[in-house]
Amino acid sequence: MTTPVRLYDTWTRSLREFAPLRGSEVGLYSCGPTVYDYAHIGNLRTYIFVDILRRTLAFAGYQVKHVMNITDVGHLTSDADTGEDKIEAGSRRTGKTAWEIAELFTEAFRDDLRKLNILDPNIWCKATDHIPEQIAFIQCIDAKGFAYRTSDGIYFDTSKLSDYGYLARLDVAGLRAGARVDLGEKRNATDFALWKLSPQDQQRQMEWPSPWGVGFPGWHIECSAMSVKYLGTFFDIHTGGEDHPPVHHTNEVAQTEACHGTRLANFWMHGTFLQLDDSKMSKSAGGFLRLQSLIDKKYDPLAYRFFCLGAHYRARLNFSWEAMDGATTALNRLRAAAHQWGEPGQADPATLDMFTAQVVDDLNMPRALAVVWDLVRSDLSPATKKATLLRADEVLGLGLAEWQPAAEEVPAFVTELVAARQQARAERRWKDADAIRAQVTEAGFSIEDTPEGPRVRAL
Ligand code: AMP
Ligand code: ZN
Repeated sequence: MTTPVRLYDTWTRSLREFAPLRGSEVGLYSCGPTVYDYAHIGNLRTYIFVDILRRTLAFAGYQVKHVMNITDVGHLTSDADTGEDKIEAGSRRTGKTAWEIAELFTEAFRDDLRKLNILDPNIWCKATDHIPEQIAFIQCIDAKGFAYRTSDGIYFDTSKLSDYGYLARLDVAGLRAGARVDLGEKRNATDFALWKLSPQDQQRQMEWPSPWGVGFPGWHIECSAMSVKYLGTFFDIHTGGEDHPPVHHTNEVAQTEACHGTRLANFWMHGTFLQLDDSKMSKSAGGFLRLQSLIDKKYDPLAYRFFCLGAHYRARLNFSWEAMDGATTALNRLRAAAHQWGEPGQADPATLDMFTAQVVDDLNMPRALAVVWDLVRSDLSPATKKATLLRADEVLGLGLAEWQPAAEEVPAFVTELVAARQQARAERRWKDADAIRAQVTEAGFSIEDTPEGPRVRAL
């Protein structure tokens, strides 16, 4: 049985009832990172959004096949196909090879995902592992008459598609008129590179032979070629960040329309950016916050996840340390409550229905969290609360089932006091035991006597 899900689709600019194209399996493709540097916490907000989407679909009863690419070649410093390849530039900056750079930052990215409880995609695909597929895709575009050659590569002729730019509602005529002077050899301002030839005066580390000469693929072709390979020519959902519709996703659609006659995905979903002090956080501009920057300041990575859940994925979110403190306190309250509730019993169907209604309504996590706080305050039994929260956590992904109070949170002197109290109780010195409990309380801890022995928690 599946629960109906409503999702906001950028293509139609509307909320649409979601139904998989094939049975109950959902094909989900997410534009992955360009691995020339660490991910910043803005990038990670987008992947938390995708993780919530994926978990919600599974919660609603669908099997999700999730594919994510790793851009390890072809993403140039300018989206207009000029400038240097970001990975090759990273190699020059650090003295490592381009391949080492890509490997290093791919691993760092996957480590960030693990720390944030973001589920691993079912398929990871690297652009450099799919050069033949990309060449074949470009040949298909060429054969259909959409490609042309310049002195530095093969370009897509966007004027040949009548609805080019529809996804982003681009003012194509305006863009073309505005950029007439800097066209170079391009026929139209919106045309983009499918294959770039290696520069004559420069030895690239990443380059491959092709029917057009030695070179490397453009950034957009990798996503069209790999998503089609793993999910088919028309699949369920494609995700990315709010920067993607005007260029990257518009060009993915153009390529797939030219070759296969589809708009690639049935739903196009985009996460709104995280801002830092009301300015855009960008990897290429430098000076950004990584997940490790938060960890260095003693924040739990899951507090960042919790912070992101506090805003709808289509709402702007401003990062601040105060907000991180608030998220940390709230998450710890939730963890402590869940821990104290003990073993789970049966989940409460009414609460679960309310929670589900919010998450399937275009992933309304702020409202879903409000349902969770109502549950915490309710007079349901601890066992019911625990079971309900653990079900909800399948979507929240806060790892509440595994959480234990950190042993080091209880200082040694408190542990010694607790042991002394146990001794006093064993010897039936009740007054001493009570006095010691008072000392423990004064130190900021409570003692709960359980069949497994005393459980000590920070007050
Ligand atoms: P990149 O590694 O630059 O290709 O970006 C990886 C992902 O992060 C893409 O989906 C971008 O749309 C997204 N992204 C970039 N900056 C931000 C930001 N400040 N907030 C949220 N997502 C972002
Ligand atoms: Zn992409």
